[in-house]
Amino acid sequence: MTRIFSGVKPTGHLTLGNYLGAVRRWADVDQHRADALFCIVDLHALTVEHDPGRVRRLSRQAATLLLASGLDPKLCTVFVQSHVDEHARLSYLLECVASDGEMRRMIQYKEKAAVERARGGSVRLSLLTYPVLMAADILAYGADEVPVGDDQTQHVELTRDLAVRFNQRYGHTFVVPRATPPAVAARVMDLQAPTSKMGKSHDVGAGIIYLLDEPDVIRKKIMRAVTDSGQGVVYEREARPGVSNLLEILAACEGGNPEALSGVYESYGALKKDTAEAVVELLRPVQERHQELCADPAYVEGVLRDGAEKAREKARPRVDAAYRAIGL
Ligand code: ADP
Repeated sequence: MTRIFSGVKPTGHLTLGNYLGAVRRWADVDQHRADALFCIVDLHALTVEHDPGRVRRLSRQAATLLLASGLDPKLCTVFVQSHVDEHARLSYLLECVASDGEMRRMIQYKEKAAVERARGGSVRLSLLTYPVLMAADILAYGADEVPVGDDQTQHVELTRDLAVRFNQRYGHTFVVPRATPPAVAARVMDLQAPTSKMGKSHDVGAGIIYLLDEPDVIRKKIMRAVTDSGQGVVYEREARPGVSNLLEILAACEGGNPEALSGVYESYGALKKDTAEAVVELLRPVQERHQELCADPAYVEGVLRDGAEKAREKARPRVDAAYRAIGL
């Protein structure tokens, strides 16, 4: 059976980008067709300045939102990364296979390190090595597929390289996984800055739709979205990033494709109105279920405990084999 691994970082509140680019597909498709593991990757949240209490709160909130989005613990495994020691154990071995040069070439490292330096802070070493930990997350489970948005494909490429290198040097140990980005909404952009992705770790929220935003807040954010100068409501990702982003969000909500919506709308206002209503309707059941789950935190804790147990059983044999293969 195909095995799938993917994760979400508890560095902020989950966004529409996380939902359309990843979580919705995990719930609607992936958990039904494969042995799927979905992880709150809390160790990754420590790679930039963090508040311990906030990380803990956001981890539980992310878990609650994953369940509210439809992940069913009877069908898949939902767990927290730090509850399973195998991730950190394997990460160290992979650090002995990776080179510092390939880490420094990672686009996310360059971008995030620049932000940290601009703030006057130091760059944590873990920010540099974080793609290796991500590789360990995936390889520990022998995942065949990694359903992620576009922003993570470079890290999955690195994971493939490390798996191949380890296998060549020390004997076949790891499955070589592949990234499977969604056909539509692989990169949802910030509504106020449509050349940057809608990311939950960003500080300013006016261009970001959070899964728990009230319907009126969603409407306001979409109605105020930056559009482009130019004629017609057409889909041209490079030349018309603002309008194209809205078309993409609308298409993703409706299960269609943005090209088919190109030229259908006569005004930006009409497009924004339909997009806002589509997003409100898309998120309504998630928000309702979230509300119910918040009333039962013990249930969520139980899911995470069982999930960690199941995940550990799946990871341990392969990580033990990697320790033996490398000579320990
Ligand atoms: P973030 O950038 O929000 O911190 P995470 O690293 O937690 O994202 O990613 C969780 C999943 O959501 C990943 O599969 C990632 O590719 C996807 N994702 C994140 N932002 C977007 C976006 N703007 N558009 C599409 N997918 C996204």
